[in-house]
Amino acid sequence: MKDIDSIEDETVEEIIEKYVRAGAIVSKIRERTAKRVKIGESLLEVAREIEEEMIGAGCKPAFPTNISRNEEAAHATPTKDDTRVFGEDIVKIDLGTQIDGYIADTAITIDLAGRSDLVKASEDALDNAIKNLHAGINTKEIAAIIEETITEYGYKPIANLTGHGLARYNQHAPPTIPNVKVEHGTILEEGEIVAIEPFATDGAGRVVEGHTREIYRLIEEKPIRHPIARKLLTQLREYRTLPFAKRWLAGEHIDFALHQLEKAQIIMGYPVLKDAGGGLVSQAEHTVMITENGCEVLTR
Ligand code: MN
Ligand code: MN
Repeated sequence: MKDIDSIEDETVEEIIEKYVRAGAIVSKIRERTAKRVKIGESLLEVAREIEEEMIGAGCKPAFPTNISRNEEAAHATPTKDDTRVFGEDIVKIDLGTQIDGYIADTAITIDLAGRSDLVKASEDALDNAIKNLHAGINTKEIAAIIEETITEYGYKPIANLTGHGLARYNQHAPPTIPNVKVEHGTILEEGEIVAIEPFATDGAGRVVEGHTREIYRLIEEKPIRHPIARKLLTQLREYRTLPFAKRWLAGEHIDFALHQLEKAQIIMGYPVLKDAGGGLVSQAEHTVMITENGCEVLTR
């Protein structure tokens, strides 16, 4: 198997078993969540439930549950004392589990706004991409399928958000799987684990960074002088190189400590990404394993 920094003595079969198990758990939680997201429900409660169910099922969140609404495409997650509830929104829930660092990443859009065609555009793009996957396919072919499907619906794919490979404790490993036509791609190989995630919008088709940041990730451990920042760094080791949410952190002066760690380039923040034109955004995502003649959808 390619691109996986495996545990010593772990067999390929054992690694695949963990991916398959992580995938089965996260799909079940995704389906339950889809029924639970309704107008008036609390964003924070939905996120918490998802993450608690993962732990209850014997795995861990691979990253904070993303609940991005309307023009938000990614990286939104509730705060610790969030009081917001769902309205007539296009709701993207992006969730991931990990077992020993092996990640299953999936997303669904729930339509509370009466825009089922927009939701269908990204779902169909994902289905069409999956139908065409096999060892030896070039990622530029997948990108073209995604773009054509979404365009046929009269929407735009988001050009600067992509699918990606998955590796141990690495949520965004190579290769990049574009959602719009590109000149050069990468050949996918048998056994590779990748996430395909088309985004469709009636807006600009490209995202820009907003101001809010609730998700962070450790980049590199370096000495840091301030005791409050040092204390928080100890807490962060638990997440290794995977993203974590500010609301997961315990203690005082969290904002100050995060700021110090970010300034020292020990951690990085993920700003909320929004469509540049303020359009509505839908997303669909599955994690798949490439096989000789097709693929196995691990998060079906
Ligand atoms: Mn995802
Ligand atoms: Mn992903």
